[in-house]
Amino acid sequence: MIPVWLTRGLARLIRRLHRPRPPLIVRTATVAHALDVPEQLVPGGAVLVARPGFQDWLAFDCPCGTGHRLLMTLSTTRRPHWKMTVGAHDSVTLTPSIDSYSDHGRCHFWLREGRVSWVQPPASPETKATR
Ligand SMILES: [Zn+2]
Repeated sequence: MIPVWLTRGLARLIRRLHRPRPPLIVRTATVAHALDVPEQLVPGGAVLVARPGFQDWLAFDCPCGTGHRLLMTLSTTRRPHWKMTVGAHDSVTLTPSIDSYSDHGRCHFWLREGRVSWVQPPASPETKATR
């Protein structure tokens, strides 16, 4: 006989595992020049532009889903620039937050351990397209 507290705990755990997760951004490749960043990226993939001992850029498609590319400066000699750390499973953390303006509007979010937390949730791509 399984105690009730245990079945409730398992049910809660299963619900938590099935909850939709926010987009995940992971480093999928490293190239030497910004021009080598492929036009098509793996969904959630980020390409690091770096030379030995020197990080230049991090390129990825904005998680808002409208398809605009973000090219974040990692070079500490440029302003502004972002500090990148790569964690477990190549998950990317960028500091400070990413605040981008495109034809689709403003996209402002934090990227921590590959997870996107919107400062202000973007309008859905469908909504933006009809504007
Ligand atoms: Zn965006």
